[in-house]
Amino acid sequence: MARRSGPRLLDWINTPSHLQFNPFILTGYRPASSISGCVRSLFYLHNELGNIYIHGSVLYHLFMCHRGGNRVYSHLLALDMCGVWLANSLGAIPMIQCTLVCWPSLRLFTLVMYAFLSVMAGWRALTALSTTARLQAFGWQAIARLLVFGIRWLGIGTGAPRSLLCYLRMDALALLGGLVNVARLPERWGPGIFDYWCNSHQIMHFLSVISILQMHAGVVPDLVWAASHDYACPED
Ligand SMILES: [Zn+2]
Repeated sequence: MARRSGPRLLDWINTPSHLQFNPFILTGYRPASSISGCVRSLFYLHNELGNIYIHGSVLYHLFMCHRGGNRVYSHLLALDMCGVWLANSLGAIPMIQCTLVCWPSLRLFTLVMYAFLSVMAGWRALTALSTTARLQAFGWQAIARLLVFGIRWLGIGTGAPRSLLCYLRMDALALLGGLVNVARLPERWGPGIFDYWCNSHQIMHFLSVISILQMHAGVVPDLVWAASHDYACPED
């Protein structure tokens, strides 16, 4: 995977403006490419290679240098946001369902409210103009989840005992990743040093993978718990 096997890479100053979103990544930008050129970039070193290989947002990172320019890039970014939105929106349904299984009216209200917040979050994420605004778009969903987790922590809500800690780790890791990405750390401390590896976006990818694994680790026991019907509601 030698760098010289690919095309001549660009510095930040020479890359198209829509790809200049991180001024602390100074080198390693791919030139504008065809679809096959983008795919070939899987096999040489450039500053998006780590992002392509360590995360699910492969299409966005692989094709962001497509010669279609900002128009293609905007569609890819929207697609990337849809993935984040799906995980945030659908992922919370089993958590709410299991926490409020004994409170059908409150459960329905919470699910409807969460659906409303999800629609708002999706719209705000798709129309956001900055990384900070995209992170903020998911804020109300996160607050709603914390309220649900609080109900469970107080013992009012139900669910598998070990799931709550997984959910708290899930949101803590996702928030930490989002903040690292917005702060552009560590490359802000050493512009040019982290162009290829260990920059903020890669750290966010890494943390969000662990976050999703924590979601899985929480949801599976919750669903098994709900399917077992091995619980008693206060009215029973
Ligand atoms: Zn990414």
